[in-house]
Amino acid sequence: MEKGQLVYEGKAKRLYQTDDANLLLVQYKNDLTAFNGQKTSMEHGKGALNNQISSILFNVLRNEGIPNHWVKQISDDEQLVKHTDIIPIEVVVRNVAAGSLVKRLGLTEGETLNAPIVEYYYKDDELGDPLINDDHIELLNLVKQDDLTRMKELSLRINLVLVNYFKMCGLRLVDFKLEFGYDSEGSLILSDEVSPDTCRLWDVNTNEKLDKDVFRQGIGSVEETYTKVLERLKGVVSHG
Ligand code: UDP
Repeated sequence: MEKGQLVYEGKAKRLYQTDDANLLLVQYKNDLTAFNGQKTSMEHGKGALNNQISSILFNVLRNEGIPNHWVKQISDDEQLVKHTDIIPIEVVVRNVAAGSLVKRLGLTEGETLNAPIVEYYYKDDELGDPLINDDHIELLNLVKQDDLTRMKELSLRINLVLVNYFKMCGLRLVDFKLEFGYDSEGSLILSDEVSPDTCRLWDVNTNEKLDKDVFRQGIGSVEETYTKVLERLKGVVSHG
């Protein structure tokens, strides 16, 4: 597979054309940002760790019938994906109170929610990715309502698959962010990444934070933390 022209560079990934118009090569970067770009860092090994973690999780999701853009991992920090037109909505699913939910509603961090909560954020850096609801989405014409319904259904199914999978790894899936898009045939599929940059993962026994919060809160090494996550995932993969 030829690595062609750079078509897009985001905060955490570079996208390159390939010799197949329907496929893009994604290179995961070591750059890490938080608080809407106010805190930045280069974290040795992060790109390769997230590429491997995301590849394992997209493969698990595909095997569970969740359509997604991942095709295959092609090197330590690169994977091949289907070209998708991204819908500018970040879907957040929460199982346990943490992060902005705690601040917004005054909950206690670590409280288990009675049922998973789904939230939508408008992907717009200048506006600071505001929280939006179905009516705002209709107003801004971000996606058709039936596709929004499908995104919510898929997000809850993904949550079930991932909660169970991470449980086998001794990890609690606190919350996570998803992005969806349309492939070249117009099908709605999961896109972007699923990694400790986009999920909160706590050790089931100790509640140790094993995700980007170690960077946000300055409480640990990103490389060591993400390595622990990858090792646990690999342990489950190799043991079937
Ligand atoms: N998240 C993300 N990208 C964003 C915002 C949130 O990946 O731009 C993830 C975040 O890592 C967490 C979940 O979505 O797993 C919920 O994040 P929250 O709303 O609590 O906001 P944060 O604490 O990241 O400001």
